[in-house]
Amino acid sequence: MDPQLRREDHTGVEREPCHHYPHHRVTAEGEDILAWTENAISERETAAQHATKGPWRTHDTWLPQGGHTATVLTGERNDTQLLAWLPTMSNESWDETRNAWRNADHIALNDPESVLRRCAADREQLELHGRSGDGECHTCVEWSETAYEHVPVPFPCDSFRALAEGYGWTEGKR
Ligand SMILES: [Zn+2]
Repeated sequence: MDPQLRREDHTGVEREPCHHYPHHRVTAEGEDILAWTENAISERETAAQHATKGPWRTHDTWLPQGGHTATVLTGERNDTQLLAWLPTMSNESWDETRNAWRNADHIALNDPESVLRRCAADREQLELHGRSGDGECHTCVEWSETAYEHVPVPFPCDSFRALAEGYGWTEGKR
C-alpha cells in the first residue's frame, strides 16, 4: 500500500505515524503480545492522566459560529470548562440528525476516570494471565489426558488474547 494513503491529511507530518490513531496500526508478526499490551494500556493511562479531570458531561451550547453545538464540559457553575466542541452548523437545538450529541455522549462516557478504571482492571487481567518463567499462563490450566492432571495453559491463554484484541492486537487473525 502506498504509505501516503495510510495517513490522514490532518497531521501534515509524513514521516511520523499519525498520533491521532496510535492503536489502529496492524500489529507486526512476531511482536511480543505481552509487551505490546502493556504498552497499549500505558499509552491510554498516560493520555487519561494528562486529560482534564472529570466527570465529563454533555451540553447543548449555541455559538454564533457553529449554531447549536454539542459540547463536552467538566466542572460546575463558575468552574465549568469547555473540553470539546462538536459543531452542527444547525440552528435547531438537539438536532439529532447531526449525531453530534451521541458523539459527545461517547466522549463524555470515556472520560479520564473511566479510562483509568478500565486500565486498572485490565492490568489485573494482565497480571492474572501473564507469562510465567516457563512460558505458561499464571492462572489458566487444562486437563491433560497424558499427564492425567491439570497442567498450565501455554501463554497467551484465550483470556490474554482477548484482552490484547480489545486494544487492537491483530496477529494470528490475518
Ligand atoms: Zn490465562
